[in-house]
Amino acid sequence: MKKIVIAIDGYSSCGKSTMAKELAHRLGYVYVDTGAMYRSVTLFALREHLFDAEDTLDADRLSALLPQVRIDFRLNGENVEQKIRGLEVSSRVSIVAAQPFVREMLVRQQQAMGEGKGIVMDGRDIGTVVFPKAELKIFVTASAEVRAERRYKELQAKGQPADYESILKNVQDRDYMDSHREVSPLRQADDAIVLDNSHLTIAQQDAWLMDRVREKLAE
Ligand code: C5P
Repeated sequence: MKKIVIAIDGYSSCGKSTMAKELAHRLGYVYVDTGAMYRSVTLFALREHLFDAEDTLDADRLSALLPQVRIDFRLNGENVEQKIRGLEVSSRVSIVAAQPFVREMLVRQQQAMGEGKGIVMDGRDIGTVVFPKAELKIFVTASAEVRAERRYKELQAKGQPADYESILKNVQDRDYMDSHREVSPLRQADDAIVLDNSHLTIAQQDAWLMDRVREKLAE
């Protein structure tokens, strides 16, 4: 069967990674979570003390150090899956992701991963910048409150500290920063299909997605 590139973009905490992972699994495709890449660079910046007390990033220093950063689903060999999901990284990742030199390096890596097709990639700029020619583009959205509630429950289930109000604020702040930054802002590609999953169960959403894939493969 022919293999395609599936780009899943949208607002933070929309469940993009859950659906992208499941879709990749069903299709036997590779799944790439590009948010985790930006989060890993942010964790690296935190550990190098590149944010001052006002959270201003020392971009020059990060740019100099970036060639040392290797992300192969680990940050320089360490499993950072838990650490990149906490509020310390979440509240600063949009600052790091707005740096053109960070995007340039990560986008290059992402494009290399999709060369052989058969990939589901989720992020903010996959359908617009990374793979503008992706065969299937999905733009996911849900209300900020629904998204904050989901992230809150997710953190609670993992036994991590969670406060609904600060999570909601973080979701809203990231929406704003991600859609208003100069480089590759979050926006719906003209040929993307919109999925508002505020009131869908995961099963309904997965079924909807598989229908879109089948349509594409039948073309
Ligand atoms: O998807 P996730 O919420 O983990 O992404 C974390 C952050 O990384 C986003 O809020 C955004 O600032 C940045 N990001 C991005 N471009 C992508 C993926 C994520 O700018 N392709």
